[in-house]
Amino acid sequence: MENVVIIGSGCAGWTAALYTARANLKPLLITGEQPGGLLTTTSVVENFPGFPEGVDGYELMTRMQAQAERFGTRTKLGSLVQNVDFSKRPFVVTVDGEKIEAKTIIIATGAGHRHLGLKSEDLLEKKGVTYCATCDGALPMFRNQPLVVVGGGDSACEEASYLTRFASVVYLIHRRDSLRASKIMADRTLANPKIKPVWDSVVTEVLDVKQEKVTGVRVKNLKTNAESVIDCAGVFVAIGHVPNTKLFQPFINTDENGYIIRTNGAATNVHGVFVAGDCSDHIYRQAITAAGMGCAAAIEAERLLASEA
Ligand code: NAP
Repeated sequence: MENVVIIGSGCAGWTAALYTARANLKPLLITGEQPGGLLTTTSVVENFPGFPEGVDGYELMTRMQAQAERFGTRTKLGSLVQNVDFSKRPFVVTVDGEKIEAKTIIIATGAGHRHLGLKSEDLLEKKGVTYCATCDGALPMFRNQPLVVVGGGDSACEEASYLTRFASVVYLIHRRDSLRASKIMADRTLANPKIKPVWDSVVTEVLDVKQEKVTGVRVKNLKTNAESVIDCAGVFVAIGHVPNTKLFQPFINTDENGYIIRTNGAATNVHGVFVAGDCSDHIYRQAITAAGMGCAAAIEAERLLASEA
């Protein structure tokens, strides 16, 4: 029987692991298919305190893992939870066909990339449509080619700036006429001569499904309804995130967008199941706030177990 099973290996998960490990609870952390979470797909993280020069996202996560394991965290690497039963304690988590019983659970499954919802987008995924510039931007198919980034937030700005290293030009297509991104990111993006903003516009189709590779996008201007085609070799979609909570929804209350509702601190509606990070936070969504929530969930799990000892 496990004291604590932590599901997810982003900032929230590793911080929860660090704290529960230091409380001698010997936590078991299940990483999911993308160990380290979304931060491993960003480039430099400039806003995590303690790194004045910035830190590579992958390196930050590797360091968090090492720190958590140093104090006794056990890691199930690359494993995906297939099923959970939170109907009664002990809870049951099924991983790689194995049923694991746990006194407490910390859900830290984060959020995945939101899709545009176009059929052509799905058909051309990995054939020029991608959700991660740092993962795919350097591919030969994108070199010295015009590229498109969709979105107006910090992610879209970060992706667009990163892609200027490889692209001939980057079109930033945003559905409004001002960026949602933080001022520093927005200013940096708009000052970059290789980034051409396309305002008030949405992508209605990714071209060309027949050619089985991205050759362009069909774009509609929402103010004029005019349609046009922008030639490009790649489409980088950066329009926000969707929380990874489907698996828990039979037991755990979420809001209408799927974010887990915290009833008090890090607690959920199920006594003994706690939550931390982006799967429960649509407001701050920062590495540092996710880490803070991981700490809170760990302390609450520890206190519950101590009260039952
Ligand atoms: P976000 O802030 O939610 O921005 C999503 C963008 O996509 C918005 O501009 C939104 O338009 C647009 N959008 C949403 N749905 C769309 C759709 N169906 N079609 C077209 N456009 C759509 O998401 P994010 O940029 O991924 O950032 C998430 C969080 O991470 C934020 O808190 C951000 O500050 C943080 N972040 C920080 C950094 C950094 O500091 N280094 C880097 C990346 C992300 P509207 O503006 O019209 O809503």
